[in-house]
Amino acid sequence: MEIVVCSQKIHGFDSYLFVSSGEEEVIFPAERLRELLSESRWNESVLRRYANEIQIGRRAFQSLLDPRAGGRAYIIPGSSVKGNVKARLQLTLQPYGGTAIACLYPARGLRAPPPKGSHGWRHYGVWKQSLQYDRGPPCNVTADRNVCVVCNLFGAPGLSSIIDFGTFYMRDGKLIQVGEGSEELFAAEPGSRFHGSISFRGLGLHELGLLLIGMGYWLSGERAEAIPVLLGSHKYKGLGERIMGRVVYRVNCLKTSTRCSGGGVGSGSRYEGAELENILAKALNAAYEEYRPYIRQVDEHREALRVMRAG
Ligand SMILES: [Zn+2]
Repeated sequence: MEIVVCSQKIHGFDSYLFVSSGEEEVIFPAERLRELLSESRWNESVLRRYANEIQIGRRAFQSLLDPRAGGRAYIIPGSSVKGNVKARLQLTLQPYGGTAIACLYPARGLRAPPPKGSHGWRHYGVWKQSLQYDRGPPCNVTADRNVCVVCNLFGAPGLSSIIDFGTFYMRDGKLIQVGEGSEELFAAEPGSRFHGSISFRGLGLHELGLLLIGMGYWLSGERAEAIPVLLGSHKYKGLGERIMGRVVYRVNCLKTSTRCSGGGVGSGSRYEGAELENILAKALNAAYEEYRPYIRQVDEHREALRVMRAG
């Protein structure tokens, strides 16, 4: 399945995109620090100089750059997209009637909402309906062979994923310096597009529907519609005056292998345009038929704006 991730230009505001790989680096120049310590005694100014030598997360400024391409290609790592889609699907599949069909990490329901200003309070504000339940421990095949519907697709400790996310490469747009001081970074400008592909094997039509729901698709009447979702850093609080992280995942094309059968799709075929729309709507309908009571679609963008304004 070929996917385009579009950084949104929405009427009224533009959104920038910065995706960090989650592997921020602490640059700790041991030799230099040893020198500093040996030449002086501890006092405030030494501590300040000491702290200045340690740089945290400088590498993250470049995490839209592909290190293998010598920093010439702008990318979103497939693992970041996977994490984003999986988390949204877990949050969207909410417990119903005392049963959870999707695990969540951290698993335990929050006993009380985090106080305003503390870590994660905006995330809680957007997803509070989903976060208030205790879903038990997250899936782990080494402890229990049964996994939830999400881990069955995306994998869990001890279980491989049946969906593979490739690297997404920037086709349109450029990086722009945003933020200041320690928050300075290079983000993709509004309207940027990243192209990549997601491949899978042995996925039922309703499971393809779940994958689409994770990407922010829902049924608008009979049509499959992709709404803006939140991805990357600073997505809840923005950066200075800038809004960050509103993207739309758009399926461009679906190709089936020669061994593919069932689900109303042919083998060795390529679907685009109206035919593709039709398959996406069918897949979403199949997911709704199977899991309707559990699916609570949240308009993250609108909820995040509401939380931001209330804060
Ligand atoms: Zn699970």
